[in-house]
Amino acid sequence: MKGLLDQKFNEGGIVITKVDDLINWARLSSLWPMGFGLACCAIEMMQTFASGYDLDRFGIMPRPSPRQSDVMIVAGTVTFKMADRIRRLYEQMPEPRYVISMGSCSNCGGPYWEHGYHVVKGVDRIIPVDVYVPGCPPRPEALIGGFLKLQEKIRTESLVAPKAIMEMEEELASQG
Ligand code: SF4
Repeated sequence: MKGLLDQKFNEGGIVITKVDDLINWARLSSLWPMGFGLACCAIEMMQTFASGYDLDRFGIMPRPSPRQSDVMIVAGTVTFKMADRIRRLYEQMPEPRYVISMGSCSNCGGPYWEHGYHVVKGVDRIIPVDVYVPGCPPRPEALIGGFLKLQEKIRTESLVAPKAIMEMEEELASQG
């Protein structure tokens, strides 16, 4: 909750904070990922979702539907045949939405980089990627590290500031 409690008054229990900090804290503390397993990396992703790694402690709970998810994990080899399915599912996710690319295949084509005529050389050619997790395959700890990086990114985002700044600029411009 660092940054959330900017000022606290003990009497009356009043807390002052920024709307951005409050919203970001809520969003990063309740990520709902949709696993998109495409090859061997998917086994490690499934293991990460298992009880031994206890993702719940980070507020991360896998969902079975893109319409309920705000993070897509692309785990494995992205073939050209799957490319438009990946993009369609991404477009079905509500905004704001994020993508974690898990493993060398999804990051850049991996072992298929040179001769894989059927493999897209990085899922970021189809959809925007927020965090890349290296490895072939990455261990569950690496995927958890990717989630923590994503949480740090969300912590610095601003959902309200851009509009407020635009309005201020328009007001200043109208004043000449
Ligand atoms: Fe399999 Fe390695 Fe590709 Fe992951 S990066 S899908 S482990 S070949």
